Amino acid sequence: MDKTVAILGGGVAGLSAAHELAERGFRVRVYERKSVLGGKARSIPMANSGTGNRADLPGEHGFRFFPGFYKHVADTMQRTPYGAHGNTYDNLSVATRMLLARAGQTEITWLARSPRTLEDFRVFLIQLFTPFGVPVDEMAYFVSRILTYATSCQKRRFAEYENIPWWQFIDAPRMSKAYQAYLGQGMTRSMVAMRAEESSARTVGTTHLQLLFGLISPDRVFDRLLSGPTNDVWIQPWTSYLEKLGVEFHRDSKVVEIGTDGERVTGATVQNAAGSSTVTADFYIAALPVEAMAALMTEDMKRAAPSLANLDKLKTRWMNGIQFYLSQDLPLAHGHAIYLDSPWALTSISQRQFWTNVDLSQYGNGAVRGILSVDISDWEAPGVVFGKPARECTAEEIKEEVWTQLKQHLNDSGAMLIQDENLVAWFLDPDIEFPNPSSATNAEPLLINTAGSLQYRPEAQVELENFFVASDYVRTYTDIACMEAANEAARRAVNCLLVAAGSSAPPAQLWPLEEPAFLKPLQEIDRIRFALGRPHHLDIIRKTLGG
Ligand SMILES: Cc1cc2nc3c(=O)[nH]c(=O)nc-3n(C[C@H](O)[C@H](O)[C@H](O)COP(=O)(O)OP(=O)(O)OC[C@H]3O[C@@H](n4cnc5c(N)ncnc54)[C@H](O)[C@@H]3O)c2cc1C
Repeated sequence: MDKTVAILGGGVAGLSAAHELAERGFRVRVYERKSVLGGKARSIPMANSGTGNRADLPGEHGFRFFPGFYKHVADTMQRTPYGAHGNTYDNLSVATRMLLARAGQTEITWLARSPRTLEDFRVFLIQLFTPFGVPVDEMAYFVSRILTYATSCQKRRFAEYENIPWWQFIDAPRMSKAYQAYLGQGMTRSMVAMRAEESSARTVGTTHLQLLFGLISPDRVFDRLLSGPTNDVWIQPWTSYLEKLGVEFHRDSKVVEIGTDGERVTGATVQNAAGSSTVTADFYIAALPVEAMAALMTEDMKRAAPSLANLDKLKTRWMNGIQFYLSQDLPLAHGHAIYLDSPWALTSISQRQFWTNVDLSQYGNGAVRGILSVDISDWEAPGVVFGKPARECTAEEIKEEVWTQLKQHLNDSGAMLIQDENLVAWFLDPDIEFPNPSSATNAEPLLINTAGSLQYRPEAQVELENFFVASDYVRTYTDIACMEAANEAARRAVNCLLVAAGSSAPPAQLWPLEEPAFLKPLQEIDRIRFALGRPHHLDIIRKTLGG
């Protein structure tokens, strides 16, 4: 197949599409506005921090979490060679714990897998008997809502739950502060930049279920992490492999216009150091983030591809990383930490314990022995030191706020885990562009699936004959904006392209989200009830028992 494909955007979606197409013999060119590939999944080293021939300190746009339910990304990683005989999937390790940190209260360590060792059972028992602060009746109510979601049919999820926020679905407004903070906001905001108050109950419910199945099934995993900086152990080996397959990368090349004759895309205008030029190809895949794609939607494009006309109605939020470089490692838990009472919805990972082959003394000034990589998921809520939201703070104020919120959670109950003298350096994601507060911007916000937003999200196949879309906002099984959704969307775009090109190559594999078989009969009962216009059976029981 000697057809050419121009892929616009070199993030996970763009690289995944390039991978599938190059392996099927297409001539692929990727146009990326940055000098580096990987998009929001790339590492961002701390510029100019390396001294005496050492490398710059490793940093991430945000730490990488690969839940057990990811199948598409996992498959691509397995097909990406690494080292002499391995592949990049080998660079994922399973996290065994999760830390639920609370301000002024004992921290709770959760088992991030079903119990396997004596130590696992000990942790599990402590977890069961540590009071969570949520009244028992409210806890039972939350469980009943999870069960309701788990046993509901797909049609009800799309028709009803898609259109209400998770906050309403779990009845958070009438519950205690602890219920709202831990089960409502904490569980939701901390995983991605979702806000329980506005995110669709369908997206949050589906993602919660997938995470839960990973947690309780003996044959599944909950959480996986990379064994080194993302660029080193994944993105760089991936792009090298794609280059070997013949993929051409055009870095520092920004797409500024997409031309159409109403039925087909006629070319894309690309700006780079040499000036502006129009690139043409037999097919185009736009793997651009939603806000970039929305900005390229001219009236001509909207008429030609009505399913892309409402992208500007989709909402994005800020979620960005800050790295704390420590002189002594602080392995808080063998997995992610969630700071349940932090107004800025902080989560963190202590990187070093997973970076088994990385010698941190070879980075920065040689004094760093641990990295606490923190994601800030709420940029709107006032902080505890300056009383301002993160988006109105200077970089120094953001660092001070995050450090203080970490202290509030970890320097309690007699522990003093966060010590000023342990901090060698810190580094805020340079996507947060200053000066603040008047004109703070975030170069790469993240899509959130607000209630009812599915109607504005396109399929990979749009109305144009030779143009397809692939990014984390495209409709997928995965649904939530993440690397798995970006990869799945790319596979869908490629499959549509294969049909349009008349290719006989096999389609890229897609995996629907799996749910345990024992739920099927109950979901079937709900399917019948939904068809008859009846509410979910657990809602009837709940109403009968008076809520
Ligand atoms: C802080 C943070 C932490 C995250 N953590 C996780 C996690 O742990 N696990 C997970 O699964 N997901 C995580 N995500 C989400 C995940 O990173 C994204 O959903 C995914 O990487 C999106 O990939 P994409 O290719 O669709 O888009 P992007 O990554 O946005 O890639 C799009 C590419 O297009 C380029 N581009 C933009 N405009 C133009 C233009 N005009 N011309 C040319 N190129 C252009 C961009 O530079 C970028 O390289 C996180 C996101 C953030 C922000």
